[in-house]
Amino acid sequence: MKKTTVFNIQKFSTHDGPGIRTTIFFKGCPIKCEWCHNPESQVFAPEIMLNKYGKEEWIGKEYSIHELVKKIQADQIFYDQSGGGVTFSGGEVMAQNIDYVVELAQECQRLGITVAIDTCGVAPTENFRRILPYADLFLYDLKFIDSHTHQLYTGANNHLVLENLRFLSDHQAEINLRLILLDEINADEGTAKEIIDWLTDEGIHVSEISLLPYHDFGRDKYDRLQRTCTQNFTQPSDEQVMSIKETYQAAGYQVTIGG
Ligand code: SF4
Repeated sequence: MKKTTVFNIQKFSTHDGPGIRTTIFFKGCPIKCEWCHNPESQVFAPEIMLNKYGKEEWIGKEYSIHELVKKIQADQIFYDQSGGGVTFSGGEVMAQNIDYVVELAQECQRLGITVAIDTCGVAPTENFRRILPYADLFLYDLKFIDSHTHQLYTGANNHLVLENLRFLSDHQAEINLRLILLDEINADEGTAKEIIDWLTDEGIHVSEISLLPYHDFGRDKYDRLQRTCTQNFTQPSDEQVMSIKETYQAAGYQVTIGG
């Protein structure tokens, strides 16, 4: 029986796609963003984290496809009424066992539950090709156009990120592009214009852009995992975020702030 490790199942989520959703957080990510507020998502295997009272707790539990489908299906009435569905997130869902992920998405589609894929884009293009027929929406993170900067802050270059974004756009996927905003690093109009130019030059179509201002909500989790915290950024001001929003709007994009 196929199983995979999940570290959280969030019901009644309203930030991971349209309507009311269940978000499945798969454990394991191929990159390490310094601003990551879910550091317990990065390692693929279950691991121990101290809870808020200082007691050891296992993070990550294995689920069969049948077990996850049952959890997802339990709230189908809310999806139907709100235009919601299920979101596969992480960690990085596209770097999991792709046979498992495709079968889970197929089963959701068979039940009439729409599927959103929340991805950082670092996974084989073949995995995107396989999930495409069963995914209704991609919440796609674009962190930096410049590969060296991407490498500096995430530990990996962005070749696959850009290639997979092109692939999805070429195949008419519905894409919500999600952009992290870090003060003094990329929360400026120059970076926004660079991204707009790149999207235009590459002919990439996105239905929406979501601006995600940095926050440091996950800091205590690094302590509880006994890891050095890498969340040493500054939140951009409301004025910066509004100015970036206007830059994208002026270029014709529909823009929201937040997930
Ligand atoms: S892609 Fe997401 S889960 Fe992975 S390290 Fe970055 S922020 Fe964390």
